[in-house]
Amino acid sequence: MSDTVTRLAATQAEIARMTRDFEREPDSVTLIAVSKTMPAEVILPALEAGQRAFGENYVQEAKAKWPGLRERFPDAQVHMIGPLQSNKAREAVELFDAIHSLDRESLAKELAREIARTGRAPTLFVQVNTGDEPQKGGVSPAEIDAFLELCRVRHGLVIDGLMCIPPADQPPSPHFALLAKIAARHGLRGLSMGMSADFEAAIQLGATHVRVGSAIFGARS
Ligand SMILES: *Cc1c(COP(=O)(O)O)cnc(C)c1O
Repeated sequence: MSDTVTRLAATQAEIARMTRDFEREPDSVTLIAVSKTMPAEVILPALEAGQRAFGENYVQEAKAKWPGLRERFPDAQVHMIGPLQSNKAREAVELFDAIHSLDRESLAKELAREIARTGRAPTLFVQVNTGDEPQKGGVSPAEIDAFLELCRVRHGLVIDGLMCIPPADQPPSPHFALLAKIAARHGLRGLSMGMSADFEAAIQLGATHVRVGSAIFGARS
């Protein structure tokens, strides 16, 4: 087995153990294998081993890698987890099964237009900047209620859940708890939270999607 397949199996086993420990349903957590920067030949063994959900950060990179991989694995799901420019909304709706980084009205508007035009409806997560970090994408917790309302009412978007990336220098659990609380208040089921270093805490606090890169594919150069 390749290192990737060994680490993928170990990650899946850990998630299974965590869902048992935290008394969650076995299939309540989707593992998104974050394959950004990894070439197709590194992703292929994970697909062959049965992994189906993958995360990418860049539209151009995903466009170069995934059409070929999808020909061989038509049921692969590709999730956009990186920042998305509004002028890439058309390509994003064509390419991705889910978008985790909706955080601005200009993007909401363009996504709504492309969804209406194409009839394709990627699963949508609104990114929340739970640490209010100036350099990071996401809607401030102070503005999230108004933003969700705007997405739904003005742009007619169906929002499936929320996503966050906690500040690197803080314990992640309070951020995961805050995201879960906001989602519950809005009746949103999806919680995209937890990465290689902290997916256990995220699963404990209700994550439905964990985004795990380096623990599966190794360090990115
Ligand atoms: C790169 C990335 C991940 C994966 O990070 P790892 O620490 O390698 O697991 C998860 N989420 C987002 C938004 C990312 O950009």
